Amino acid sequence: MSRTPTSGESRASPLPSIDALLRADEIAPLLAGYGRAATTGALRETLAGLRARLADASGSGPVGAPAIAPAVVPAIAAAAAARLAALFAPSQRRVFNLTGTVLHTNLGRAPLPPEAAQAAAEALAHATTLEFDLASGRRGERDEHVRDLLCRLTGAEDATVVNNNAAAVMLVLGTLAARKEVPVSRGELIEIGGSFRVPEIMARSGARLVEVGTTNRTHARDYQEAIGPRTALLMRVHQANYAIAGFTAAVPDAELAAIAHAAGLPFVNDLGSGSLVDLAPWGLPHEQTPQEALAAGADLVTFSGDKLLGGPQAGLIVGRKALVARLNRNHLKRALRMDKARLAALEAVLRLYLMPDRLAERLPALRLLTRPAAEIRATAERLAGPVRAALAARAGVEIAACRSQIGSGALPVDLLDSWALVLRVEAGAGEGRRLDALARWLRTRPVPVIGRVAEGRLWLDLRCLERAEEQAFLDQLA
Ligand SMILES: *Cc1c(COP(=O)(O)O)cnc(C)c1O
Repeated sequence: MSRTPTSGESRASPLPSIDALLRADEIAPLLAGYGRAATTGALRETLAGLRARLADASGSGPVGAPAIAPAVVPAIAAAAAARLAALFAPSQRRVFNLTGTVLHTNLGRAPLPPEAAQAAAEALAHATTLEFDLASGRRGERDEHVRDLLCRLTGAEDATVVNNNAAAVMLVLGTLAARKEVPVSRGELIEIGGSFRVPEIMARSGARLVEVGTTNRTHARDYQEAIGPRTALLMRVHQANYAIAGFTAAVPDAELAAIAHAAGLPFVNDLGSGSLVDLAPWGLPHEQTPQEALAAGADLVTFSGDKLLGGPQAGLIVGRKALVARLNRNHLKRALRMDKARLAALEAVLRLYLMPDRLAERLPALRLLTRPAAEIRATAERLAGPVRAALAARAGVEIAACRSQIGSGALPVDLLDSWALVLRVEAGAGEGRRLDALARWLRTRPVPVIGRVAEGRLWLDLRCLERAEEQAFLDQLA
């Protein structure tokens, strides 16, 4: 019986078998480092890649003599090692945020103080009293760990926390306004970072948005005319990320609260950033605090844990006891609740607010936001020489004044005086490509350095590079 050979038979494979490889000396370190299953997987993938390349190289004809044979095992070992290294490298990496945006959503917003990071790590590693009351030995409530602190700091009757502020808004609307109407000023129908859009969150929560007023001007009578039998509450959304200037009008909180209360409705204020302290004494622009919002008549106030508050991702809701109780009874709360690690971190951060006189020193977000320009300039002067030496072949380095942003929608038009190292590549053809390559090189350092390209140069705003990190930053440029 004769037949034509099909691929895979009647010619020797130039590649060794998995079993042979697993016995090879070159593979031993991989087995020791990653174990048998992961190593075998990487070898399989490597062999499959090589087979595909051999097939490509030989077209449809028979595979020729294996030119790579003598070096094949070390080559496979090296390729498998690279695959394993990539597979086991953490995807989320620490970076140097030199973008000039302090609370950068894409870079994880507020860096936490050490006590908060430690509390989170401790909670993750161990069993905790997350929902356990030590005094009675009975079941406890997870909100208990932060409720009193939040009430004390904001003057609220009650408080609850969820996964983030988008979830807080969702829970409030889903509980108080499902299948009902919520009038919102057209000037407050904002989008934040692409994923949070007021109209869409409202639709998702089951509430029906009733747009009132115009983009630049909304009056008390606009709200009054919109209130009807199906109205659930009045809502204000902080104009995060943008500002309206010129011929404008908005209804002050106290007046809006009075309109709501006269109609027997709650008034909800979504602050977004909501700093727990007045930032003005530190020379920062004032941002409405939850305590001010409550004092102005809000029945519920929602704000983020990781914006100006400087804590972990969280959605904080403070206000009237009866309303918070309704939120807690909603099954949605269970789906949106916070985990033990972030609760532990939030508790530690809130405790720092009990010592406001030391806050700017101990809370990294505030420390970075209030860093004097002269100090940042001194950093630039210390670093310019060594950075110039390290980058000599790639770029010229100068010091220049710049403006930092607060970020995360807080105080979008207020910029902070800062200083930067400005990197410039050789001018002429291909300059843009060289600048991109420089930015890429900085992103491939052991701790990636993220800057900002503007005016054909790469700016490294040094506001977020603190003294204790300077040496580590320099070492990895060498
Ligand atoms: C940022 C922001 C949100 C969303 O908060 P996250 O914590 O990012 O979910 C909602 N409303 C306003 C006004 C905001 O500024």
